[in-house]
Amino acid sequence: MVLLALRIRAEFKNIWKLEPQGGVNDRDFGYLLKVKCVNCREIGKKEVCLSYNEAVLEGARKFVHLQKKCTFCGSQGTIKMLLGRGCPLTNILTEAGDSACLMVFDCSGYEPIHFSFTAGWRVQSIAGTEFENVDLSPGEFVAFDKYAQAPVEISKLSSTFAVVRF
Ligand SMILES: [Zn+2]
Repeated sequence: MVLLALRIRAEFKNIWKLEPQGGVNDRDFGYLLKVKCVNCREIGKKEVCLSYNEAVLEGARKFVHLQKKCTFCGSQGTIKMLLGRGCPLTNILTEAGDSACLMVFDCSGYEPIHFSFTAGWRVQSIAGTEFENVDLSPGEFVAFDKYAQAPVEISKLSSTFAVVRF
């Protein structure tokens, strides 16, 4: 078992924070991931979409968010999402060149290796203007903040998975 934190980073212009539409504990936010079988290192051809509300029952009492059997080596694996460990990406972090931990995945046999930015984000400008259900799949976000009469921009989006140690 290993805990992997999904960390995101970006460059902001006149942006205060970026987070999933319902906040970092959004149970409906979909995490589009490429996953790897730990046993044989085979990477799943299709991306999988995990959201907290779509859990599957594993065993008597344990919920997981992905249950997968490797088509190559036959190993079974699971991934479970851990709520309550994420934080929004704020301009304090971006200006310091830091990343934000968005979600932690408890991995057994399967591990995420790539995260795709898709739709369903909430963006707040420095002036307090909210942009709802922002689609980050183009890799950036550009808009005009009417309240501040200034352009807002998110660029250079990237993500990594880092092992969480205690
Ligand atoms: Zn395998």
